[in-house]
Amino acid sequence: MNTRAPGRIACLLLANCLSATLALCGCRDDNSPPVTRSDFDFAVTWRCEACGTVTEAPASPDSKVCPKCGKPMFVTREWTCARHGIVRIAFQYDDKAQYSKVRVDQGPWQDYTPEVEAKLYTCPKCNQNLRPVIPSPIARM
Ligand SMILES: [Zn+2]
Ligand SMILES: [Zn+2]
Repeated sequence: MNTRAPGRIACLLLANCLSATLALCGCRDDNSPPVTRSDFDFAVTWRCEACGTVTEAPASPDSKVCPKCGKPMFVTREWTCARHGIVRIAFQYDDKAQYSKVRVDQGPWQDYTPEVEAKLYTCPKCNQNLRPVIPSPIARM
């Protein structure tokens, strides 16, 4: 099920309308850089796969080293299967803040392709759709 495409198209249409309107009224400022937000601008969860230490820091294309055990840490997001519980998905980024590689639980690193993305958010054990884990404010303290 692809629920993203219509949203993207709507975005594009909106952007086109907006730029047409701006061009018409002559108030478009070409000098201002486009504001693009990516995971590099937000703190995300980095997790050591060896000892489970987590830290919050902006995503980056470089890996981090675990302060406790010295093993690499990766940006990790937790999803959950109703039957099998937490599925951890780890990501590596390229320098444009796009995912470059992905790994599900302790599986092999895979290139982040549309084919991989399409199957990413399904449970590796039962193929049910996963739900994102929203950390509660209390759990984060
Ligand atoms: Zn560690
Ligand atoms: Zn499952």
